[in-house]
Amino acid sequence: MTLINDNLLLLRRQEKSFSMSFVTLRRPDDFHVHFREGKLLQTVAPYTAAHFGRALVMPNTSPPVVSASTLSSYRLEIMMACRTYSFEPLMTFKIYPALSAAELKALKLAGAVAGKFYPLGVTTNSGDGVSDLKAITHILLLMEELDLVLCVHAEQPEVSSLSAERLFLKHFYWLVETFPKLKIVVEHVSTAEGVALVESLPPTVGATITVHHLMLTLDDVINDFLHPHLFCKPIPKTTKDKEALLEAAMSGNSKFFFGSDSAPHDRSKKENHQCAAGIFSAPSALACLAKIFEEADSIAALEPFTSEFGAQFYGLPLNESSIYLEQTDEKVPRTIEKLVPLAAGKSLGWRVADDLSAQRTS
Ligand SMILES: [Zn+2]
Repeated sequence: MTLINDNLLLLRRQEKSFSMSFVTLRRPDDFHVHFREGKLLQTVAPYTAAHFGRALVMPNTSPPVVSASTLSSYRLEIMMACRTYSFEPLMTFKIYPALSAAELKALKLAGAVAGKFYPLGVTTNSGDGVSDLKAITHILLLMEELDLVLCVHAEQPEVSSLSAERLFLKHFYWLVETFPKLKIVVEHVSTAEGVALVESLPPTVGATITVHHLMLTLDDVINDFLHPHLFCKPIPKTTKDKEALLEAAMSGNSKFFFGSDSAPHDRSKKENHQCAAGIFSAPSALACLAKIFEEADSIAALEPFTSEFGAQFYGLPLNESSIYLEQTDEKVPRTIEKLVPLAAGKSLGWRVADDLSAQRTS
């Protein structure tokens, strides 16, 4: 059900009338989001629920999601925060070596769709991460049997941030060879080498791509000034890497799908001498994507990337409702409570037309 309104886009180009044009999109999914917990969750989760049908919720909360009971209570907290929306959280758990077979089966029964592997110490709340992939072989075997997806934060610990993803990639050969039926997602792929690896591996391996890695290079984060609200992990890299990601996202290759990695931190934690890693992109992600895809003359590739390939990889039905992206010169808010969203204060040329979407949603 692709309903790209080519005529209206053409009209916009001819008349330069930004207010008249919109694109219809099957309601998208976000296959990588951080909702945090407590008050912060209540603030941020509705921004995802307003635009996306489903979101794969990362488990690196404090305390982490590691059991059926923590998963169920976290899902309830999310559903309460998003109760005015038709939204389904897709739950994950954090993998740790002592996770027992019984606990893993209970997680599956409680509705987990994926387990997240964090190498030790590479990102927010990963001080209890796994130092050796082979130490969790027994867990991965059972995940393969139970049809649970393995989501991998693919960065090698204790190496340069610029090399961390490249140096981790070798582990995927072992994973694919040892667990041929296990579905594996390279999360927030950020390098040309990562893209090439995913393309070369079997169909059991996919990758999420964030919107900020399609927009930024390292120079955008550290140029004349340091931009704390653009600091994230994996760190955005070179122009060559960004171009490889853009090409993958617009290629129509179903191995690559959208995962925002929206990762909010209070402004006080970002504008800090120890700036926390993470970009709060949920409010502006789709508008940013529309701008990027339109500027590349690839707006037709947006729907499969955001609304089809991820669901297909996870074996989920496609969403049946739609959202509407409308051309506008409206600006992204500078702040949302104590948070600074991606593209704060900027006009992206697009916005999600919430009212229109609500009216026309089937
Ligand atoms: Zn993440």
